[in-house]
Amino acid sequence: MVRFDVSSLVKAQPGTLLTLDIDAGPEHLTDLEVDFLKGTIRVTRVQGGLLVQGIVQSQLRQECVRCLEPVEIPITLELEETFRLGGGAPKPGTPCAVSEGGWLDLTPLLREQSWLAIPMKPLCSPNCQGLCPQCGANLNLESCTCEKTHIDPRLAALKELL
Ligand SMILES: [Zn+2]
Ligand SMILES: [Zn+2]
Repeated sequence: MVRFDVSSLVKAQPGTLLTLDIDAGPEHLTDLEVDFLKGTIRVTRVQGGLLVQGIVQSQLRQECVRCLEPVEIPITLELEETFRLGGGAPKPGTPCAVSEGGWLDLTPLLREQSWLAIPMKPLCSPNCQGLCPQCGANLNLESCTCEKTHIDPRLAALKELL
């Protein structure tokens, strides 16, 4: 959990500012594991809430879609969200709220932004050779002797006749 005691800010006048340093990790953001979270967050007391702004550097691991090797993916999370004050259970659609005790829990926000930052098709390198579809060899590490070109079954039949 990435959370901070902001009770002093909750009691402060609108316009009051607090700077929080984040240096955590590895961290489980509910269902997403990140290697680290590093950044600076600015929290401003606004009417009825706290405005959270900042940039957090992070890194997570995915599988390369071609060779299935683990890939470290650096991500940058840009945060800008108003956390509601007033405590109570978070209402659906407004998950960002400061708890009654004055705790600011950034986990849901960081999780959401991390999911958005994951590339659709992670690659270990732009020219990853992937796996051989026939023998499964990792073509980045080894070459295999499989036929490289896919032969049309009709052409193969023709080839046998020749
Ligand atoms: Zn790869
Ligand atoms: Zn092969």
